[in-house]
Amino acid sequence: MDVARKIILIAIDTLRADHLGCYGYKLSTSPNIDKIANQGVLFERHYATDVPTRPSFTALFSSQRGIKNGILGHENVASDFRILKPLLAEHFAAAGYRTGMISNLLYTTPWLVKGFKDIIPPGLRWQGGNAEEVSAEACQWLKTYGNGDFFLFVHYWDPHGPYIEAPEFYQKIFLAEEYTSIAPDMRFIESNEVLKSFYSQYHKLANRGETRPKRLLAYYDSEIRYVDDYIERIFQLLQQLNIEEKTLVIITSDHGEAFGEYGFFDHLSCYENVAHIPLIFWWPGRIPEGQRIKGFSLGVDLMPTLLELAGLPIPDDICGKSLVKVITGEKGTSRQEVVTNTCATVVQRMYIRENWALVHTLSRPGFDHIKEYELFNLAEDRNQEIDVSEKESKKFKNMRLALEDWLARELQGQADLLHFMVEKGGWAWRLTPLQKILCKHPRILLKDPSLRRILINKFGLAVNWLETILREEN
Ligand SMILES: [Zn+2]
Repeated sequence: MDVARKIILIAIDTLRADHLGCYGYKLSTSPNIDKIANQGVLFERHYATDVPTRPSFTALFSSQRGIKNGILGHENVASDFRILKPLLAEHFAAAGYRTGMISNLLYTTPWLVKGFKDIIPPGLRWQGGNAEEVSAEACQWLKTYGNGDFFLFVHYWDPHGPYIEAPEFYQKIFLAEEYTSIAPDMRFIESNEVLKSFYSQYHKLANRGETRPKRLLAYYDSEIRYVDDYIERIFQLLQQLNIEEKTLVIITSDHGEAFGEYGFFDHLSCYENVAHIPLIFWWPGRIPEGQRIKGFSLGVDLMPTLLELAGLPIPDDICGKSLVKVITGEKGTSRQEVVTNTCATVVQRMYIRENWALVHTLSRPGFDHIKEYELFNLAEDRNQEIDVSEKESKKFKNMRLALEDWLARELQGQADLLHFMVEKGGWAWRLTPLQKILCKHPRILLKDPSLRRILINKFGLAVNWLETILREEN
């Protein structure tokens, strides 16, 4: 196989795999990505190593899981990052590739810019820049450096909330009426006062108060279609520059999104709707066309895969496994099991083997319906709303043992950093101590503006939600 000397890694933030046509979605969100998938290799069961954004990209660029690299949630800071070895872009820079990132990850995840010569944050703020602007920056960079060896990371934010920002043209393609059978019911949120308030306050801030899942899903899909159209601009440019056949393109995401399933929204958990993300390799004439890989893969696998495709040495102490033999069809899969961790609100770990998903929740602020350990049959219950740990007690026991074995192998006697995150907490974890204060002195918050300011500094948005609950109770 030729060596990849022109590589574009495209990440579409917050993109659920199952909302793309090439992953079986029925609505027309992704005609261009579907075409790319048809010409390349698609991994059907690709998972984020860690969730949400910062841990996911940190795992991708370091090829180390959060429990090893130290970044497991948005509460982590640069000094928590434990990896001194070269990150993905550093490998390419050392090999003489021009490296560029069209992304604003540097604002919150500055440790990931190592190795990038050109750092171009579209929109000049965290989550800034729309698909049109990101593609324009990417095309401009490719016009300048596309003739040499390069590694370009292009990061789109559009499907991330708020969902209401796609141009009207795209919003008109998706009608809420079509989502009646797709939209999840809201029983877990409706039956929990804290979650109900959390949900409505969140959407009040993010989506002009729109809370109906069918409307939110239609908006979300319009954002995907918007990105899909602008990704096509990059492929058109590759053709114009006459480097189409020499360029390897990878399309992936950092995590998916929930819309009320099992009481969750946004990307606050690591169930299937959040952990399962797309992965597509495109390099016509160099790698197989129209291949679909049934086995598992993980975000950490990208570094060794890209290095091998570029003919560069793969470091030996990473968590990722090269997918090259899977891509070329020499091997069926690199993994029999996948594990995803999260710390956004709940602190959670999902272990998947075959079609069974064991979920261990270490902390569950407000999400009272979750048990510490749950077992789901993904073949019958993709939304993971039916815990079968009691009904399938033997399977449950075996999965728990398998997870313990995996942890022992992975940690080799080191501490499991996910447990520390229970103390450090995701931002909404802080609801619990705050609720305790409020139970004792329920009206202090509303009456004393200086105390309110202190609490907002310390507890952030949680204060707004709790104030709403109090107002409603009054
Ligand atoms: Zn993200």
